[in-house]
Amino acid sequence: MCEFCHKHGEGKKWYLQAENYSEDLMSDLKRRKMITDFFANPGELRELTDKLLGLSKAPGFVRSVLVPYMVGRQKKVHYGQVLPIEDVEEIFGFVTSVVRLPCLCRHIFLGTEQRFCYGVSMAPQEGEMLKIIREIDMDYLTGPDTSGLEALTKEEALESLRQHEQEGLCHTVWTFMAPFTGGICNCDRSDCGAMQATVTYGFPVMFRAEYVAEMDQELCNGCRQCMRVCQFGAIGYSAANKKVFIDPLRCYGCGICRASCTKDAIHLHDRAGVPVAANLW
Ligand code: SF4
Ligand code: SF4
Repeated sequence: MCEFCHKHGEGKKWYLQAENYSEDLMSDLKRRKMITDFFANPGELRELTDKLLGLSKAPGFVRSVLVPYMVGRQKKVHYGQVLPIEDVEEIFGFVTSVVRLPCLCRHIFLGTEQRFCYGVSMAPQEGEMLKIIREIDMDYLTGPDTSGLEALTKEEALESLRQHEQEGLCHTVWTFMAPFTGGICNCDRSDCGAMQATVTYGFPVMFRAEYVAEMDQELCNGCRQCMRVCQFGAIGYSAANKKVFIDPLRCYGCGICRASCTKDAIHLHDRAGVPVAANLW
């Protein structure tokens, strides 16, 4: 179990606890300000990513002090975790609304509107967090409805997330001042600040999933499709036996490789049951 499961989930997966999505948490004025600032000032995300790039080139002793400090701060403000589609399904089982909105990262890094983010809420309608976002005058919210936010049925949202998975995007769930949990994103390394920070710059802003992928040698035909979609460089190819292998030390447990395998050769297992990866987050 990751640190958040102990702190915010009583030893169970924190993002499957309905109380972490509750509207009560939105009465905290600091949280409301954090959400407002986050969506109103997308440029700050760009600045942070640039700072991390600089930090990634700093001497080891500087990084060894600054990285844990900054990661600790980030955990209090905005932190995520990779999760597979079956856990997204569980979340959609208890939240009452799902609203699709443009991704802030793609807006910053690509300058385009890409609707890869989903706000979730336990409120009868869209919830306070989405109301706050709706009130911010953001020029990037220019989607099919004039307010830029699209209310979806849970079935529509799941269908959409399955498509993202087929496109090779990794599902992640996000806090806005933990334990409040308000969004599910679909990330890739080329244009997602969180993935770049975590994987490229060695500054983790999200935990690995509670799972690790394992591959059945008997079923694998060596097509290497799974290798092409793994965002974390966790899959290698053995020319000797003409099959791939999965490195549990690198695997984030997203399950994207599984979705791409036509031989059903890849399955996810509980991280806790894979000793070499059990304490890797
Ligand atoms: S996609 Fe499936 S069959 Fe192809 S290499 Fe990967 S595990 Fe093997
Ligand atoms: S090996 Fe599969 S489950 Fe692990 S990180 Fe890569 S794509 Fe995700």
